[in-house]
Amino acid sequence: MMDPTTGEYINENSPYSLHMAEQGTDAMEREKTFLYAQREGKFLGYLDEALKRIDAGTYGLCIECIDEPQNLCDTCPLIPRERLLAVPHSQHCLPVKLKQEKKKKTY
Ligand SMILES: [Zn+2]
Repeated sequence: MMDPTTGEYINENSPYSLHMAEQGTDAMEREKTFLYAQREGKFLGYLDEALKRIDAGTYGLCIECIDEPQNLCDTCPLIPRERLLAVPHSQHCLPVKLKQEKKKKTY
């Protein structure tokens, strides 16, 4: 990022504000970092779940479709291989996931 008044580049990784005006941005950055950390924690939880499901032999099965197949995708209740390659910890096939994301607000 370039300082518009001096034309100098500001090190965005610097933990200190160079100007008072940037303190607001810093607070926002900290907030973002906190949210990322939260997400990371969630992600680790998902990975843990995935490992448990490998042990249980249910890995790669959509947890919504396993009990009552909804036939939303060709491979139901199996999560399509491409999706597992992209998101190895996915617990839902894409149609179910999309339905859920419409329902709840996610970051
Ligand atoms: Zn499904």
